[in-house]
Amino acid sequence: MRIDPHAHTNCSDGTDTPAELMLAAAAAGLDVVGIADHDTTAGWEPAAAMVRATGVALLRGTEISCTVDGIPVHLLAYLQDPADPALKEVFAATRQSRDARARKMVDLIAADYPLTWKDVETQVGPGASVGRPHIADALVAAGYFPHRDACFERVLHPHGPYYVRHFSPHPVEAVQLVRAAGGVPVMAHPHAQSRGRIVPSDVIKDMARAGLFGLEARHRDHTPLARRQVEEMAAELGLEITGSSDYHGTGKPNRLGENLTDEAVLARLEEQGTLEVLRPCWSST
Ligand code: AMP
Ligand code: FE
Ligand code: FE
Ligand code: ZN
Repeated sequence: MRIDPHAHTNCSDGTDTPAELMLAAAAAGLDVVGIADHDTTAGWEPAAAMVRATGVALLRGTEISCTVDGIPVHLLAYLQDPADPALKEVFAATRQSRDARARKMVDLIAADYPLTWKDVETQVGPGASVGRPHIADALVAAGYFPHRDACFERVLHPHGPYYVRHFSPHPVEAVQLVRAAGGVPVMAHPHAQSRGRIVPSDVIKDMARAGLFGLEARHRDHTPLARRQVEEMAAELGLEITGSSDYHGTGKPNRLGENLTDEAVLARLEEQGTLEVLRPCWSST
């Protein structure tokens, strides 16, 4: 079984539509793909509509933007009730704050790289969560940089003069919210150093106590050492281990299926979730 539980669509900062993600998952030979857009469940329905046609099972999820002491933490929520009022409210507040923050960043950037909010808006999928990658896409479209990565290096990194924060919950609070909504929380890429400071292990311990299910150890942003450290931490804290591509379409080099999650781990995850994995009806998975 090839299970890749963490991919993005144009409902956040991926470039495929949810339907295109399902087709790409089939082409990559996946049995199960997880849709995990930032702070939204908007892609769930259009992706679900493609399960039969593609023969690929769908794990419904969301990657929740959290912060602790200014350090970004990404929490994957799986199989939660999408109508849960508390979680819906956090997602809405985050998306609203993301939008205001992106406008502020564009104002700051425009002083050095002439750019308008309209330029960014045309890069954002309908109703999508706005993020720095969309500003990157506008900078690339305007010819300032060759790709997203260069924009992050030169303009969008958090220590630069153009960076603005957005609202995001504390990761321990987010774990509690996900569990209360019947979801299963997994910490995404816990030791991705390339993204800045990594979260202190005390915070991960607190998240584990609050009901964390697992740690995403197998991820391209982890060095071999980081991956081993995350695996050891999971063993210590009694947490499950997952792996994923964190696919973003053409926005990143990450390829579907480059890291995978074990079938037994997905089975235990599904047991704890309020929703089920959506399977094509002829499949035995
Ligand atoms: P934001 O949530 O708006 O602060 O933007 C963070 C998102 O930017 C992450 O979810 C990544 O998908 C993306 N990202 C971070 N670094 C890079 C990079 N070097 N190249 C492309 N995308 C990146
Ligand atoms: Fe992203
Ligand atoms: Fe992430
Ligand atoms: Zn992601």
